[in-house]
Amino acid sequence: MSLTPFALPETKPYWDAAAQDRLHIQRCHDCRKCYFPPAPVCPHCTSRNVVWEDMSGRATLYSYVITASPWPQWDMKPPFSVATIALEEGPRLLSTVVDCEQSPFALKIDMPLVATWRKFGDGPKLLCFRPTAENRQ
Ligand SMILES: [Zn+2]
Repeated sequence: MSLTPFALPETKPYWDAAAQDRLHIQRCHDCRKCYFPPAPVCPHCTSRNVVWEDMSGRATLYSYVITASPWPQWDMKPPFSVATIALEEGPRLLSTVVDCEQSPFALKIDMPLVATWRKFGDGPKLLCFRPTAENRQ
């Protein structure tokens, strides 16, 4: 079984934008909340009045673990972080923090991050986050 992500009809706008280094997720026009992962119904109020919007890419580190297991399918060598990222617009999602030491000395809860896209192996560009320029060590 391949672990390479691929687009489904309901996730195609996300992957099309990711190929252009844009974070595109859904917002409900009734309650105004953004949400992720993609779904045809708002998880906050069950409205179907939802649209795709570009997000700012600004986020903070909500939580993380540092894994010691390699992920050969994506050419990821440990240690690397598996992080819950809080987007400025509200949703939280799983990703990784790149371009910084993978240790508790560098990865600080609530540290400001910005979206970046990386290729791992042969799959599509994946959403990652890196410290903001003023927060790099
Ligand atoms: Zn809603």
